[in-house]
Amino acid sequence: MIRVRNLGEADRIVTLYTKERGKLNTVARGARRIRNRLLSPTQVFTHGRYLIFPGKGLHNLSQADIVHSGQAIRDDLEKFAYASYVTELLDALTAEEDPTDRIFPLLAATLSMGEGGRFKLAVRAFEIRLMRELGYEPELYQCLHCRQTLKSNVSFTEQGGALCEKCVGHVPGSMSLTNGTWELMKRLLEWEFSRLTVLHPDTSNETELRRVMRSYLDYRLEYPLKSLDFLETLQGLTP
Ligand SMILES: [Zn+2]
Repeated sequence: MIRVRNLGEADRIVTLYTKERGKLNTVARGARRIRNRLLSPTQVFTHGRYLIFPGKGLHNLSQADIVHSGQAIRDDLEKFAYASYVTELLDALTAEEDPTDRIFPLLAATLSMGEGGRFKLAVRAFEIRLMRELGYEPELYQCLHCRQTLKSNVSFTEQGGALCEKCVGHVPGSMSLTNGTWELMKRLLEWEFSRLTVLHPDTSNETELRRVMRSYLDYRLEYPLKSLDFLETLQGLTP
């Protein structure tokens, strides 16, 4: 459940990211009525099993069972803000009914790690892995421009790759990358997701990575994300 909007007096328009079909826009009739069986399973960040009938434009969501309620995320302003960013980013970068196998487990793992208190790191892992699944995998080992193997003094371009010292002047939109942040990016991309919680990066690496990922994502986004403003209004939580 990545986006929920009200429709009319009692209905909800619900956007789901499904394992089998990717993103789907559905309508849940009567879902805002008290005692309606769709009321709680159609809340944002809920993981569930849904029975959906195809419709023209919007599909019809008719039955639902909760697998994981996501209540702990909705009850915590900070977690809610991070989860809103994750789902808005996913919504902005994916088309309807264009499934990619590894995105559903990535979303579930990110929300789970965030719910466990590690959203700051989980969102960075989500960003870099989502880009890979969408075909924009960043090149971290060879210079994107001249293809030589990189050792140190690396920069990163918004176009999605690392650059050597000689090429940095030839590629617009590049930022220098400390070795610590460069290593962190490799781990966030390559390690098993469940292992990432052992990482405790320095604030300086976290800040640098956040800026680098922001320019890399903004290069692919057509419009600014509303959830970023929300995160920025929470003190010390600039994404
Ligand atoms: Zn180069």
